[in-house]
Amino acid sequence: MKYRRTCANCGKETDKLYDNLCEECYRKSKEEGDIFIKKIKICKYCGKVFYKNKKIDYKKIEDLIVPNKTKIEYIVCEDCKKAISTDYNTIIQIRNIEESEMEEMINLFKKIGYIKKLEELNNNSIDIYILSDTRIIRKHLKDIKRRGFDIKVSRKVKGYDRQHGRKMYYLTILLYRKYL
Ligand SMILES: [Zn+2]
Ligand SMILES: [Zn+2]
Repeated sequence: MKYRRTCANCGKETDKLYDNLCEECYRKSKEEGDIFIKKIKICKYCGKVFYKNKKIDYKKIEDLIVPNKTKIEYIVCEDCKKAISTDYNTIIQIRNIEESEMEEMINLFKKIGYIKKLEELNNNSIDIYILSDTRIIRKHLKDIKRRGFDIKVSRKVKGYDRQHGRKMYYLTILLYRKYL
């Protein structure tokens, strides 16, 4: 049996896709322009993915993306709204950054997580304590690397969870410029 693929818009099965769309939807997307733009929502804390208000598998995102027609919006899902008091799970340590870049970097992490605490060490260095899904952070690390940062990720023990009898961890992500 031939492998059939699914249209990212209407769900129809077809042999051939164009930008993840069936022929009919592809044609419509060209004609309707912006009206055709779809939104995928990702919870920036837990990484759950929603499409048309239904939860979908994180691995299926790639199949849903139609170039220039799909917008990813980072949201806070209902479960996480309830659990918002949770502590940070990642510390972003930014070192040797240009002063003018500082705000941009803070805004980037604001977009992809919930900032619990900011510790400015000097004009060029800051620690950002953040609650975010680590997969989302890792995805953005590629872009950060392209800006000329060196990146070091490590896992540290934060404490012991007596209730569940296990160690608790957090990530530290060190972003630094060798030469300013
Ligand atoms: Zn279709
Ligand atoms: Zn969530």
